[in-house]
Amino acid sequence: MSEKIQNVPFAKPWIGEAEAEAVGRAIMSGWVTQGPEVAAFEQEFAACVGAKYACAVSNCTTALHLALLAVGVHPGDEVITVSHSFIATANCIRYCGATPVFVDIEPQTYNINPMLIEDAISDRTRAILAVHQMGMPCDLKTILEIGRKYSLPVIEDAACAIGSEILWNGQWEKIGKPHGDIACFSFHPRKVITTGDGGMITTNNPELNQQFRLRRQHAMSVPDSVRHGSKQVIFESYPVLGYNYRMTDIQAALGREQLKRLPEIVERRRYLGDRYHKKLADIPGLKLAQEPTWARSNWQSYCVRLPNKCDQRQVMQFMLDRGVATRRGVMCAHREEAYAAKESWSCGVGLDECQCGPGTCQRLKESELAQDQCIILPMYHQLHESEQDRVVAVLSEACRE
Ligand SMILES: *Cc1c(COP(=O)(O)O)cnc(C)c1O
Repeated sequence: MSEKIQNVPFAKPWIGEAEAEAVGRAIMSGWVTQGPEVAAFEQEFAACVGAKYACAVSNCTTALHLALLAVGVHPGDEVITVSHSFIATANCIRYCGATPVFVDIEPQTYNINPMLIEDAISDRTRAILAVHQMGMPCDLKTILEIGRKYSLPVIEDAACAIGSEILWNGQWEKIGKPHGDIACFSFHPRKVITTGDGGMITTNNPELNQQFRLRRQHAMSVPDSVRHGSKQVIFESYPVLGYNYRMTDIQAALGREQLKRLPEIVERRRYLGDRYHKKLADIPGLKLAQEPTWARSNWQSYCVRLPNKCDQRQVMQFMLDRGVATRRGVMCAHREEAYAAKESWSCGVGLDECQCGPGTCQRLKESELAQDQCIILPMYHQLHESEQDRVVAVLSEACRE
């Protein structure tokens, strides 16, 4: 009988008994929503990335929404970001009634091209939302210089970048310190550590931190956790419009265990990333993501650009037929129907000036090419070397077909 070959999934969280026990403990404690586990997770997370404050929320999309509100993004404002990202990056700008202004990416890192930012700044620009795409740190040094020059706050969409590092004044520092004003993380299972769903906002600014904390819980002046322990009767008030963006204690208990695994997870992913780099170097025409000298990726996603002659969909199907799951390159928001309305985004030339058709834009060419030419390969903690070798072999065969 022939040996049964296991399929290689695309991603898989690394969760074990420790998490199950921690979640059980949280449930049995009787306090299941935002409470002591959330507070402990926040402290441990802040210590991990080197931030003064960390605020846990329901996911990274709500984290980004709160971050934009806190720096004062209002209806009619513009926020500079990339189209080439998960759609939540652009959506959260629209939640504020503001317009995302899309800047193109660099083809080697898939991150925002900082040289294009200044051209996109107008008198309505309120913030820069910079993404560390697929865990690769973006060029924060240059972006922060531009931010300072125009007095624009810089928010980091670090959804994928927990454990990634950037060289800062000669030292490797974790993404999320934050180097900008605010950084937002995701704990969705597709990311590097998970709480099921969940998010975290870090900052060194106490006023911003206060705002996140207020708005994540209906803008309730005195949270229930405080009233619960009080010897005196307290009436709460609601000074601004708030939301329910809380993380539960059940999620936080899971997150605390995951955080302990982070160093090991990042080390493993960097090892597998190096290994992919070496093994894939022989495939003619295949382009690999390049880490700038000042960046260390956690390889949340390992993305390759297919040789010109290859059809993305055919390669992916070929690989899937042989048991290897992949995903297409990162999407572009401006090509989605949700962004079909002209006023829903801009490419920086002014809302009515762009002459490009719906779903395409000359000024976002690198973004569109990256979406169409790239595929993302299996990458997760428990990916075995033999499985990785199979991914390489099948991709190599697919590119030859
Ligand atoms: C996953 C992701 C998000 C959204 O995170 P959720 O926690 O799922 O809301 C936002 N931005 C980027 C770049 C992402 O990859």
